[in-house]
Amino acid sequence: MPEGDTVHKLAAELRRRLLGAILEDVRLRRLQGGSLRGARVTDVSARGKHLFLDTDVGLSLRSHLGMYGSWHSYRPGEPWSKPQRQADILLVTDRGLFVCFNAREAEILSSGGFRHRDARHRLGPDLIAGHPKLEGIAARARALLEPDALLVDVLLDQRVACGIGNVYKSEVLFLEARSPYARLGETSDKVLTGLYRRAAGLVRRTLGGGPRVTRPVADGRSTLWVYRRRGLPCLRCGAKVEGADLGGIPRSTYWCPGCQPAEPSGMSS
Ligand SMILES: [Zn+2]
Repeated sequence: MPEGDTVHKLAAELRRRLLGAILEDVRLRRLQGGSLRGARVTDVSARGKHLFLDTDVGLSLRSHLGMYGSWHSYRPGEPWSKPQRQADILLVTDRGLFVCFNAREAEILSSGGFRHRDARHRLGPDLIAGHPKLEGIAARARALLEPDALLVDVLLDQRVACGIGNVYKSEVLFLEARSPYARLGETSDKVLTGLYRRAAGLVRRTLGGGPRVTRPVADGRSTLWVYRRRGLPCLRCGAKVEGADLGGIPRSTYWCPGCQPAEPSGMSS
């Protein structure tokens, strides 16, 4: 699944390639793309996992890659690496072809219009941005979610904050020694903010490129603490790492029962 850092890297690459390009043709699988024909690209940016391509005709193209989406670029006539039927967005430009395969969402928005603003507004602060406002995140989580929401769901909720994907979810909980069974209502603002501060540090470190590393220890064992290490010894305490599908929409989750004990009751501090 593309995490926030991946989409930011992609946006940076597409911006480098497409800024100022003329969209000679735009074809969308499920929509009419003709209104963008002839437009010039004025910006490409990421907000959380959403990619926005802005143009000089007052229209923007928003795409969300979901679990399986990817962008590819080709020279005219070059064979594609995936079948044409999987192409959701095709941009024919004076700088070659740009194809988005298997997007979860694609839509054309009026750049200044309500839906565009709404699409950005309904997302939480972006953890990859220069100075994300971490102070308001705990209040935002409590306003959006019920007290019995599991932290695994809170961390993945892009309305609370953008940028945490399923890998970092498990890693952040490990690094902050929080049980994946902990609930929002039993977690203090201080602990919540600490989780997001940790996540921001992780996603921004990966922004420069290279693999995701949450365990920068050069012993050749693992660059992640718990993710996909079910049944293996914890790299910190030796207990057996557990794994299960947890959450309202169950997603694979990994944790160490030794390092991340469940809070018996009351507010954690
Ligand atoms: Zn452990």
